[in-house]
Amino acid sequence: MRRYSAFAIAREAARYHSGWERAWASPDPKKKYDVIIIGAGGHGLATAYYLGKNHGITNVAIIEKGWLGGGNTGRNTTIIRSNYLQDPSAAIYEKARGLYESMSQDLNFNVMFSPRGVMMLAQTQHEVRGYERTAHANALQGVTTEFISPTRVKELVPIINLDGPRYPVLGALWQARAGTARHDAVAWGYARACSDMGMDVIQQCEVTGVRNEGGKVVGVTTTKGQIDCDKLGIVVAGHCGDLAGQAGFRLPVESVPLQALVSEPIKPCMDVVVMANTVHGYMSQSDKGEMVIGGGTDGHNGFTQRGSFHHIEETVRALVETFPMIARLKMLRQWGGIVDVTGDRSPILSKTPVENIFINCGWGTGGFKAIPGSGFGFAELMATGYSPLTEAFNLDRFKEGRFIDESVAAGVAH
Ligand SMILES: Cc1cc2nc3c(=O)[nH]c(=O)nc-3n(C[C@H](O)[C@H](O)[C@H](O)COP(=O)(O)OP(=O)(O)OC[C@H]3O[C@@H](n4cnc5c(N)ncnc54)[C@H](O)[C@@H]3O)c2cc1C
Repeated sequence: MRRYSAFAIAREAARYHSGWERAWASPDPKKKYDVIIIGAGGHGLATAYYLGKNHGITNVAIIEKGWLGGGNTGRNTTIIRSNYLQDPSAAIYEKARGLYESMSQDLNFNVMFSPRGVMMLAQTQHEVRGYERTAHANALQGVTTEFISPTRVKELVPIINLDGPRYPVLGALWQARAGTARHDAVAWGYARACSDMGMDVIQQCEVTGVRNEGGKVVGVTTTKGQIDCDKLGIVVAGHCGDLAGQAGFRLPVESVPLQALVSEPIKPCMDVVVMANTVHGYMSQSDKGEMVIGGGTDGHNGFTQRGSFHHIEETVRALVETFPMIARLKMLRQWGGIVDVTGDRSPILSKTPVENIFINCGWGTGGFKAIPGSGFGFAELMATGYSPLTEAFNLDRFKEGRFIDESVAAGVAH
């Protein structure tokens, strides 16, 4: 008789009861889904999760050309904050930040949300005025932030050098309940919850065509065959232009590589996130001890998910002025993602010219922090046709000139 260890039995029982094996499902050619979501990044998975949780729509497939969270979601530096200037932005990012606070309990999956505080350094008079203005706007929006003095900055970050040779620290915009989370866990947690609701998470399956009939979506063509659906959500970040082209419309979005790097692990030395937008660099310390360092985007459009030497040099050269101790650190690894940037640096969550196709993109360099709020609002838009959270982010704003200008909050920052 075949014998099983207690561990194997427990593992198989957990798989059976959680329905987690659905995450490896292949498309069933006879099945028609109520909703297909293209892209198993954080935004796509969160959308599927809230379609099921808030609207009872569970006949859903999430189709991913690579693996869960293998796009920007698993490559980002995980800064979570909601200190944006414009009201629609503050609303969706603060909704997301609030949902991050309870995400581990909600999903029963530890996403390691760490509200350690995020500070954005003011290193020019222009930035001082800008961040004081943002702090006032945040007070009106109900987002708790404050402009703090250099002395307070030093108390919070003892390793900082306030008197940089080019740009002294003149203060900072401080959000104490902002922080970080474990990026892969966010994707895995949502995927497991979707799987538990009976949804199919189909990996290694690229969408190669969008099928419309009479101006209405009827399904997609993939590398694993055709799949039919009533509604389609395109949530593919840097590839949104390509998918929109397949569906027959254009987007005002550019795709650019964004890079990051981590140092070798060191003892705990900084327990907040610091962003220095004037010199183009930001830094936090991971739970493993690595200094997580990010910079700006490449100066050209591209689809390369990899790092390059000049970025390391530019970013680290700038940060060394403010953090001289990092000059002695060795770099452990470097990588890149493809981010989708709009002209006003705000996302697009919108209906499209094709009936029943919806688009969620344009999060650029800063969409990780928005994942739960974006999923909450986009699911509402897909299920009911309207969401107060997403209304201002529709595609028509580019025709009508109703831009949501966040170039100060999101131009470099993440
Ligand atoms: C280096 C770096 C640092 C960043 N730092 C931060 C930060 O600190 N804070 C922050 O808030 N944001 C940050 N961001 C931005 C953030 O990562 C993104 O805005 C966010 O992850 C976008 O999530 P998404 O789900 O829309 O896209 P993704 O996670 O990229 O998911 C899209 C998915 O669609 C799939 N896909 C594409 N085309 C197809 C197709 N044809 N068929 C099927 N599947 C397809 C892709 O494989 C991918 O998995 C950073 C990004 C990078 C690259």
